[in-house]
Amino acid sequence: MPRVAIVGAGLGGIAVAALLRRAGFTDVVLLERADRIGGVWRDNRYPGCACDVPAPLYSYSFFPNPHWSRRYPPHHEILAYVRRCADELGVTPHVRLNTEVVAARWDAGRWLIATADGTGIEADVLVPAVGQLSRPVIPALPGAGTFAGRALHTAAWDDTVEVTGRRVAVIGTGASAIQLVPAIAGDAARITVFQRTAAWTMPKPDRRYGPVRRLLYRRVPGAMWPARAATLALTWFATRAVTGDVLARTLVTRLSAAQRRWQVRDPVLRAKVTPTIPLGCKRTLFTNAWLPVLGRPDVELVTERITAVEPRGVRTADGVLHEADLLVYGTGFAAAEFVAPMRITGCDGVTLRETWRDGAHAYLGMAVPGFPNMFLVYGPNTNTGTTSVVIFQEAQARYIVQAVRALAAGAPPLCVSPEVAARHDAELRRRLSASVWTGCDSWYVGPGGRIVTNWPGTGREYVRRTARLNLADYAGVTASRT
Ligand SMILES: Cc1cc2nc3c(=O)[nH]c(=O)nc-3n(C[C@H](O)[C@H](O)[C@H](O)COP(=O)(O)OP(=O)(O)OC[C@H]3O[C@@H](n4cnc5c(N)ncnc54)[C@H](O)[C@@H]3O)c2cc1C
Repeated sequence: MPRVAIVGAGLGGIAVAALLRRAGFTDVVLLERADRIGGVWRDNRYPGCACDVPAPLYSYSFFPNPHWSRRYPPHHEILAYVRRCADELGVTPHVRLNTEVVAARWDAGRWLIATADGTGIEADVLVPAVGQLSRPVIPALPGAGTFAGRALHTAAWDDTVEVTGRRVAVIGTGASAIQLVPAIAGDAARITVFQRTAAWTMPKPDRRYGPVRRLLYRRVPGAMWPARAATLALTWFATRAVTGDVLARTLVTRLSAAQRRWQVRDPVLRAKVTPTIPLGCKRTLFTNAWLPVLGRPDVELVTERITAVEPRGVRTADGVLHEADLLVYGTGFAAAEFVAPMRITGCDGVTLRETWRDGAHAYLGMAVPGFPNMFLVYGPNTNTGTTSVVIFQEAQARYIVQAVRALAAGAPPLCVSPEVAARHDAELRRRLSASVWTGCDSWYVGPGGRIVTNWPGTGREYVRRTARLNLADYAGVTASRT
């Protein structure tokens, strides 16, 4: 039976382990650097942190969750769901916590995995499932280290952070900041928000799930399917808007403009929050609370460029010092770095970093020529700004199960053929170069201007294309040292 080592115990890694177990493969270990499972939902606990796709779709289709309290549930409900998945799908006993993988090397037909504590682990199959959003980015602002108050990233929030009565400076207006600011407004003495680029917003069709609906979902799990199908249709439409459908795009941009007109009465503020970038260049933000909160007298939106952080606050290009006691970076993640800082070495001593010198790419986001029996989860070009990442991860997990099954049946190490991978890459590049993301100054873009995070089509297309593993795609040479 093939030995499978999964790196990372977030929704991605747990999906793979759960489906492997279900298929009868039990020689599985999940190596997790933190002291608890949960991935981003363990790390992101800032006030207001919640799902930004409707929950019926932010769950595995094979383990629907009848316990959501609302359509866009808060982070602690998602974390509870992740833990329940691990426990009830039998994954928990396979998890090894406090185990950071620092390197992995293909050697003599198997993966030799090195952990930070010096332990070595051998596996036939390596599944890096370390997420795209697990490496927070803090911009290198002049003087950042001199700030006299507490400074932290939204992904490193902890319960000791005191907001009440404090002057809070929030840098960034992305998906995390727009959840945080409405949640702390009124408690903080004052909030100053620094915006570089205004994002497109859309009304959030959020609602509480009443007791009858929750009871029905608990008693009749199939009753959740219509909500999932409706959400899928909605996100399919949103994806079309971003990937180029003129009608969908027009409708979304008009709805966004209407939201600004209706929620922001002050024309100066409305001009500041009106996007100057094309729809899709930054993640479209579903929110009902963000625009109104900016109109509060104790909240200020600053669009001047930040020139420095000083002991008493943040200085902008117009010379103004915005005093603050707490500095929050809502500045996102190094999504384009993928498995970094792990050092993964494939056939003939070539590392993944060298292979990805001009930007990360992988066949179907999972397989890389020269790296036998390695399958990435939430790898290059499998992100989506408009639908659920979990749909992609589940598709990847099903694909990986097929790979493990083939190995168990005696297939030689699976190394994707360079021609197959190159053809796939050429197709993605062609489609992405015609997409809205080309030319965006954004985290979507990796070295050489290559768009490395996003999938150019719908989730449905990805699921269809990964549904069946074709062994003929894996005719790559597994190298001299197999
Ligand atoms: C605040 C926030 C909100 C989000 N909201 C949504 C949403 O609404 N909808 C959506 O579709 N997506 C959302 N996402 C994207 C989210 O990243 C994915 O949906 C998904 O949860 C990723 O799961 P993952 O398991 O691939 O990665 P992660 O959740 O990042 O888990 C990766 C795990 O790998 C571990 N790890 C990393 N490196 C190592 C190593 N070297 N050794 C051992 N362990 C390691 C990490 O500790 C972590 O536990 C959100 C992300 C964030 C940050």
